[in-house]
Amino acid sequence: MFDKLMSKEMWGLFEAFSEKENEPANIVELVTRTVPPIARLIGIHHMNLKVDVPRDPVRSRNRFDFTAFDDGIEGKVHLCRTFYTRGNGKVEIFATTDTQEASEDFYRLAKLLFTLCGRVITLNTLDNTVTTDMLTGASNLIGFHKKAGKYCEEGVIDDYALFFTNIKNFKYINQKIGMQSGDDILRGFVKRFIEVFGEAENGIFRLGADNFVLLLKKDQMPDLIRFLKTFDVTLPSGINMHIYFKAGIFLAYNGCDSSDLMNYASTAYAAARAGKSGDFVFFEKSMLEEEIRTKSIMVAFPQAIKQREFCVYYQPKVDAREKKLIGAEALCRWKQEGRIVPPVEFIPAIERFGRIVQLDLYVLDRVCSDIKKWTESGITPPRVSVNISRRDLAEPELAEKINAIADKYGIPHELIEIELTETVGSDEFSMMIKLIGKLKEYGFAIAIDDFGSGYSTLTMLKSIKADIIKLDRAFIKDITPDSVSDKTIIRNVVNMVHELNIHIIAEGVETAEQLEFLIEAGCPVIQGYYFDRPLPKEEFDERLTEPDYYKERN
Ligand code: C2E
Ligand code: CA
Ligand code: CA
Repeated sequence: MFDKLMSKEMWGLFEAFSEKENEPANIVELVTRTVPPIARLIGIHHMNLKVDVPRDPVRSRNRFDFTAFDDGIEGKVHLCRTFYTRGNGKVEIFATTDTQEASEDFYRLAKLLFTLCGRVITLNTLDNTVTTDMLTGASNLIGFHKKAGKYCEEGVIDDYALFFTNIKNFKYINQKIGMQSGDDILRGFVKRFIEVFGEAENGIFRLGADNFVLLLKKDQMPDLIRFLKTFDVTLPSGINMHIYFKAGIFLAYNGCDSSDLMNYASTAYAAARAGKSGDFVFFEKSMLEEEIRTKSIMVAFPQAIKQREFCVYYQPKVDAREKKLIGAEALCRWKQEGRIVPPVEFIPAIERFGRIVQLDLYVLDRVCSDIKKWTESGITPPRVSVNISRRDLAEPELAEKINAIADKYGIPHELIEIELTETVGSDEFSMMIKLIGKLKEYGFAIAIDDFGSGYSTLTMLKSIKADIIKLDRAFIKDITPDSVSDKTIIRNVVNMVHELNIHIIAEGVETAEQLEFLIEAGCPVIQGYYFDRPLPKEEFDERLTEPDYYKERN
């Protein structure tokens, strides 16, 4: 009988299973195509396959139960072979025939079929492994490009929206409830998304950590936004948690490729992360321009620092009662091809790509160098304040670095004031308290910048040992003849700050009226266009050598 099995039909079976070498094959299609001639040859009337094997190592399984051959005759003898695979997989092959005689051939055929099917299953699993995220069972980035790429090629991507999404404060959640539970949240999210939105057309893709990309039909978008806004998980420990998301959304259109989709959705996500326009932000073309600008700054920055393209302007701080210059704030400018670029155009970008500490320390270095020059030429140097970005707080040994720069030029530390803005999270707050503690030990003065602009509170002033607070321009701007309540607030703030033994300075003073009110409210130290704009060093030098400049001006 074995001869029969080596017949040309048998070779057909082999060939069919080894065709399309690189492409995973469809088992049902292969088996139903190749088995009938062989089944007829060895006297089988009916053959059925029941397959239950893992599709990928994490989540899904292949399950089919199908008839490979049926010639309409009812066989008297029932035959069955069962094979097992890894991951609780099982392949059962049933057949009916007329006599036991055929059973040997059936067993050989079954074994061969299982071996061949096994090869296809392994190839398929391998393929799915490459596109599957092993933690959650969602697809991964490769899976995304495969699926989205197919939609783009077929010209149906027009119907889809892409969400680039991330869990808010996931790092903090992980710290609080442990990595294991953090993983449960990620798995729970994938599971629920698939339950609600399905995987046939839509898709969930994990890019790593808590970054997900969700691809779904545009008409389901409101449902998805609602889903993300109301997502709760119950952890195995029984704790129920509400999870907040931020997402960038791109409404795809034909002509995009899968990289465009990712690029545009992640650009929108960057805007959502920056928090300026809410947690769910739709992509707009202008965002790309901002990103291009950030990237070009990122590329130009190292060279610009090296070639000293950044320079320091000094804005005088004036005691309005004495009409005397009592200090200055160092403000950075970028001299780029003859143009003086203001900090709003480059500081946020440098902050975004994490190099602001380099710029801040550079500015401090320049300031110390200038103070040294003033001293050497017989000018009494003023106290100069330098801005230290909130993003610098994570820099290791920041206080030591500041100290080392001042000492390099032999500058008395009381001539340097460090301006810090209020922090947002509790982690940042404790880093800030530590930094302030060290800086004060070194003898530097500490100013809280932009006080009253958002996060700052009077209670926080008790835990922060600041020497000076700078009243934000937003406060001052609103001082008009009939702004009674603003004036009352300022008066109270000034009184309380004085009670805490902290000095106060008002920023952004532009009019005589504002000045008059501030003097009357007990805040005579002023920094603003009323007296001076930020000045290039050469002009500021003149102020230092003309003690009566402000007296003569009025
Ligand atoms: P800031 O620290 O609050 O600095 C004060 C800003 O207010 C300066 O803008 C100054 O020119 C402006 N200003 C002063 N008086 C007036 C006024 O009377 N009216 C108006 N309308 N504006 C006034 P500038 O120089 O453009 O700097 C903007 C911001 O850029 C600064 O705000 C600061 O946050 C940041 N910055 C500047 N230099 C540095 C730096 O070296 N490091 C860091 N981290 N940030 C810097
Ligand atoms: Ca400042
Ligand atoms: Ca300020």
